[in-house]
Amino acid sequence: MAEAATPALLDEVRERLEAFLAAGGHRKTPERFAVLEEIYTRGGHFDVDTLLERMKQGGAKVSRATLYNTIELLLEAGLVRKHRFGEQSQYERGYPARQHDHIILDNGEVLEFCDPRIQQIKATLEDHFGIEILHHALHIYARKKNG
Ligand SMILES: [Zn+2]
Repeated sequence: MAEAATPALLDEVRERLEAFLAAGGHRKTPERFAVLEEIYTRGGHFDVDTLLERMKQGGAKVSRATLYNTIELLLEAGLVRKHRFGEQSQYERGYPARQHDHIILDNGEVLEFCDPRIQQIKATLEDHFGIEILHHALHIYARKKNG
């Protein structure tokens, strides 16, 4: 699971967001940076409602509309990744890019794993089918064994 961001990473993603907003002619609102900081400070996977709840509890004045709009921008900027786990969309930090896959437990908990054999399978598929793999998503749905 992604741990809390270091101050250096926070500075880097703030700069990246600033450059992205400037390049696209988007306004640099404090709310957008507050959303970025909340996501990077806390780490892990989250859905929009949970993020909204956390930010409100922390005293932030951010609306659901602003949150959705900001997350769209962060996705475009490569600062957030979106996953579709079953019926639910979840997000996580997108920078720096980390290759990993997910196990989704029936209690909603999300585990991450990175297994080099998956890279080998992809290389084999590329050879076998004469393709270039652009992206992959592997979601394993599971429950904890009792005892
Ligand atoms: Zn993840």
